[in-house]
Amino acid sequence: MNKDLLPPALAERVEKQEKYSDRIRGCLFGGAVGDALGYPVEFHSIDSIHAKYGSSGITEYEIDPASKVALFSDDTQMSLFTANGLLYGKTRSLLKGVASQPSYYVYLAYLDWLETQRGMSGAGGITWLSDIDGLYSCRAPGATCLDALASGERGSTINRINHSKGCGGVMRVAPVGLVMRDEDDMTVATEGAEIAALTHSHSLGFMPAAFLAHVVKNAVMAGPEVTLGVLIENAKETIQVLFAQRKHLEVFINLIDKAVSLAGNGASDEENIAMIGAGWCGDEALAIALYCALRHEGDFTSAVISAVNHSGDSDSTGALAGNIVGAMVGYDAIEEKWKDNLELKDTILEMADDLCYGCLVDPESGYVDEKWRDKYVRELVG
Ligand SMILES: [Mg+2]
Repeated sequence: MNKDLLPPALAERVEKQEKYSDRIRGCLFGGAVGDALGYPVEFHSIDSIHAKYGSSGITEYEIDPASKVALFSDDTQMSLFTANGLLYGKTRSLLKGVASQPSYYVYLAYLDWLETQRGMSGAGGITWLSDIDGLYSCRAPGATCLDALASGERGSTINRINHSKGCGGVMRVAPVGLVMRDEDDMTVATEGAEIAALTHSHSLGFMPAAFLAHVVKNAVMAGPEVTLGVLIENAKETIQVLFAQRKHLEVFINLIDKAVSLAGNGASDEENIAMIGAGWCGDEALAIALYCALRHEGDFTSAVISAVNHSGDSDSTGALAGNIVGAMVGYDAIEEKWKDNLELKDTILEMADDLCYGCLVDPESGYVDEKWRDKYVRELVG
């Protein structure tokens, strides 16, 4: 970005945000890496993973023979659409002065994602992602997400539309912590939950999303000096206040505590992850990811490898571990081998940078980034 072309107030803003760029890229890209590593073994037992990849399990990307890159799944697709929806809402409110809740704009973006799964190329409404051909691919999308979005009903934490506690709610909300990083912790956690509850009505489907958004936000803002243990304790405090009335709160917090305690024992990752669960549900997926991130703190590669080698939902646990560790270590610390062969890597980085710098508008000088406006608020074009 050429800061010299910007009005001074905006150049200053860009300069201030630059320090977050590496961790925001690390979070979004890291999630995609874990997702792509785990996607080929999503429905495999640990025994069948060992039989195919050896005793260390899957430790490298499986490259798609047709496209010659590693493919990510619905977790990354939906994370990108979450980001696009949030930025659409933010831009709209800046330029038009009116705004609904962020979850409303994310819901509209998810309807665009739904169209990509139905194969209606170019049918999308509000997102620039609708123009990316590579996103028109079905990668074992979650039935709950598809059914909820196709139902025409918009779920929320108070408007139940199903009983799902699947991990499809939490696996896509990391961008909430990235976009809303200047907001207070309670607001970020609340919005994480609301965005998961668009499709997942059980509290074990949306409380983990609140937790993840909180951890991601504070990982990005605090920087490398803060430990994951501290981030987890702080998120627990917020979640216990926010969901004090929810009957599954204790189950959720107990599982997080279990993951933290297992990370400090001498057993293997495989044994410990099996003690937590399989990750098909939101609380288990988050707890497995936190366990792997804690056990391998600061070591991106080891964390994502441990997060995908088990008998459960490997791509989602890999995506979540990648989001968390990536936010903590930053993009530059991620090994090159994970960057070279990932599909749509430029799209992921473009979205990460948009999440970092936001819409550049300066009411004083009247400056508006027109390229951004045309990208994010299509109805304002022309
Ligand atoms: Mg998936």
